[in-house]
Amino acid sequence: MARIAVIGAGIIGSSITAVLQREGHAVTCFDPRGPGQAASFGNGGSIAPGSIAGTSGPGILGDAIRWSLAGGGPLRLHWPHLPVAAPWLRRFARAGRPDGLQGTAAALHQLHRSALTDYAQLLGPGRADLLRTSGQLYVYDSDKAYEKDAPGRALRRDHGVRMTELTADEALEMEPSLRPGLARALHLPDFGQTPNPGALVRAIAEDAVRDGARLVTTCIHKLLPVPGGRGMGLLSDHGEEVFDTVVVAAGIWSNRLLKPLGAAVPLESLRGYHATLELPRMPGQPIYPIAEKIMATPMEDGLRVVGVVEVAGIRKPPEFSNIDRLTGAARRIFRDVGEARSVWMGHRPATPDSVPVICRAPGHPDLVLALGHGQTGMCGAPGTANLVSDLLAGRQGRIEPHHFDIARFR
Ligand SMILES: Cc1cc2nc3c(=O)[nH]c(=O)nc-3n(C[C@H](O)[C@H](O)[C@H](O)COP(=O)(O)OP(=O)(O)OC[C@H]3O[C@@H](n4cnc5c(N)ncnc54)[C@H](O)[C@@H]3O)c2cc1C
Repeated sequence: MARIAVIGAGIIGSSITAVLQREGHAVTCFDPRGPGQAASFGNGGSIAPGSIAGTSGPGILGDAIRWSLAGGGPLRLHWPHLPVAAPWLRRFARAGRPDGLQGTAAALHQLHRSALTDYAQLLGPGRADLLRTSGQLYVYDSDKAYEKDAPGRALRRDHGVRMTELTADEALEMEPSLRPGLARALHLPDFGQTPNPGALVRAIAEDAVRDGARLVTTCIHKLLPVPGGRGMGLLSDHGEEVFDTVVVAAGIWSNRLLKPLGAAVPLESLRGYHATLELPRMPGQPIYPIAEKIMATPMEDGLRVVGVVEVAGIRKPPEFSNIDRLTGAARRIFRDVGEARSVWMGHRPATPDSVPVICRAPGHPDLVLALGHGQTGMCGAPGTANLVSDLLAGRQGRIEPHHFDIARFR
């Protein structure tokens, strides 16, 4: 049994805490906000094992510049932030080349493929209401949009993702809340969702505490390497404490702790928004209107529409005019969309190639990195927790660790 500290109680840190505690370690998880309050709170709740495409793509920077100048596009650059973001953006553009896309897909396939069954194990009995294997429906407003998505379909097919093509009439029969006028649709039966991401994270953290983990609501100010020895120290408002292993899962804030140790990861916030809307008749599954680049998920408190990727750093206040884009898109797709019940902005902690970093930190064998899950952290969390557990046990598990090593950025 080892004494392990996990920094961050988002979906990544909470899942790692739960898995390591269950394996018999003594785990303490630190977060000033408590479980599931940051990116893991307001996301789209999609748990899509076949979500392997990554955020970049061919010509992505040209598109981003065009959309940013015109306003209203799905990916926006905030000009004053560009000098800071430039090195990350160069790598992001490289990840959009064909070999980059294949590498991303191979890694995410490993991490995501059994997400729903892994969650079922992580949650245990009595939590079934937090997970739905609902399927997902991709809808296309034109045959052109369908053709444009051909590379995405080919990538999923190559990785064994089950998909059924539907006519517009079949899609409307499956989801009567959709407006007529679709060209066609694609049903992905093995995809799923949580109807309440924040509650899912809290449940995982509560179960870990029930199993004996310690949850401390405080901020870690500094990592303190132990001179010439094993372990890693932490400095918080409660003083200093030394652990056998420290796991950094602090989302977009991770580099504040890692930079002083020379272990920073190329991370950028891909800021995203949600609007939770009233809808009298909910769809039975998440709907992904491909051309609009939004996701609409039936949640406990309404239809949650998520989207927009903004490269603007973490200090700029939210640009809530983005909500109009989300509600406008929802009104084009669904009948009878009502008022917004909540609006929100969060920071997707993104690496340039959309593949998280999950490995021991170079030069610090007792420090483990588990961060950079970008657009798919809800999906990648159980796989991440299993990989961290394998790394600490020195086991070769189901996931090949080399995909997630920081070495690819060095
Ligand atoms: C609009 C939007 C929609 C999304 N939709 C989906 C989706 O449908 N499906 C999907 O799979 N993913 C989705 N994502 C991505 C997903 O939400 C993230 O990848 C995931 O939540 C990241 O989890 P995390 O635990 O790494 O980070 P976070 O949830 O941000 O948690 C990090 C935690 O670390 C804590 N912390 C930071 N610094 C310290 C410190 N010094 N000491 C202690 N604690 C610290 C913070 O308080 C925070 O609680 C979406 C994201 C957004 C923004």
